[in-house]
Amino acid sequence: MMDSKTLYAKAQTLMPGGVNSPLRACRYVKSEPAFIARAEGSHVWDVEGREYIDYVLSWGPQILGHCDKTVNDAAHKAVDLGSSYGAPCEGEILLAEEISKLIPSMEMMRMVSSGTEATMSALRLARGYTGRSKVVKFIGNYHGHADSFLAAAGSAAATVPGTPGVPEDIVKHTLLAHYNDLEAVEKHFAENGDDIACIIVEPAAGNMGLVLPEPGFLEGLRALCTKYGALLIFDEVITGFRFSIGGAQQRFGIEPDLTTLGKIIGGGFPVGCYGGKREIMNHMAPCGGVFQAGTLSGNPVAMAAGYATLKRLQECDYDALEQRTTKLAEELTAILREKGQPATLVRMASAFTIYFTDQPVVDQRGSAASNADTYATFWQQMQAQGVNLAPAGFECTFTSFAHTDEDFEKTLEAARNVKF
Ligand SMILES: *Cc1c(COP(=O)(O)O)cnc(C)c1O
Repeated sequence: MMDSKTLYAKAQTLMPGGVNSPLRACRYVKSEPAFIARAEGSHVWDVEGREYIDYVLSWGPQILGHCDKTVNDAAHKAVDLGSSYGAPCEGEILLAEEISKLIPSMEMMRMVSSGTEATMSALRLARGYTGRSKVVKFIGNYHGHADSFLAAAGSAAATVPGTPGVPEDIVKHTLLAHYNDLEAVEKHFAENGDDIACIIVEPAAGNMGLVLPEPGFLEGLRALCTKYGALLIFDEVITGFRFSIGGAQQRFGIEPDLTTLGKIIGGGFPVGCYGGKREIMNHMAPCGGVFQAGTLSGNPVAMAAGYATLKRLQECDYDALEQRTTKLAEELTAILREKGQPATLVRMASAFTIYFTDQPVVDQRGSAASNADTYATFWQQMQAQGVNLAPAGFECTFTSFAHTDEDFEKTLEAARNVKF
């Protein structure tokens, strides 16, 4: 196999930046990407054969670790029966039933092929259902790359100044507020209440680094939606089946009208899903007039992998993983502080972000105060020691059920060796 440098040079002639998703280019950490050859459990190997402890986990989906045997067996079995039919199959029902059982607010749902499709379709449904056009969105939240959401978006979108290609006529319907700023949302409703179709929110934000909802924030959004007849959409593409087996909505005890899922529910395959109250979902074609379709939607291989993943997750000890992750995150933070770096830890479940700032982080302004140069230095030296962290400081560090105590020890040892 060619080495990463050669592959990257070739890739840059074929794909913009050499990548199929911007952050993978590693520009934010002033580096070039390693090309991955294989993965297993908590580890990935690049084409040079270097081994890394993986805290990216495909940006979240691999919560069971890579190549989980049950999931892979299910996928292999499914692919032998045909990779796509474009017709209903039992696998869709199995996965949908399992999701509905674990997240009861999702009485009905639609399977799609990515998180982007899920949020885009949920927004269309909210607009079609309410007959209104505006959406309230939080600065630094990321909901995929549909036009309406590319206003002050998080994740890779935050690195692109402005949003060329997104007409002003579209984003004028997107009303912005800072995360945790309930007053700003109240103001939007006071001014535009009869034209707001929905609020879309990451119930814990994972695309400006991890940022948690303050007590009362999600409750306040729920109350405003109910009062004004708007829909509350929880974008649980990251938090679904990571924050608890019932997602962030179970953990925080708030019921949205619609939920979007992705990442984990595909078990590493391309799957998204949106769903909610039966009465709302029945507005989708062919029952209602709101249109959405997909050639590969409900793909049998992806459904099988997703179903196997959710079955496996119900046997996993979320509390134990959270405790171990907390210990790792706190020790890492302590090591960075001992080295004289300001470090603010935000953590919950099996996700955390350490910000290189000494201020608390409750919204995008706080997250943006984290020192990007310091993160780049940290990332490069961790990478050189075989620890794969997200190639940007405004992302989550994820752990999986496959990470061992030895992985965590090695990670801490690597952090102790970092020189700033
Ligand atoms: C990743 C993500 C998306 C987009 O999902 P894709 O599968 O990348 O299109 C949407 N919302 C949130 C919260 C995400 O983290």
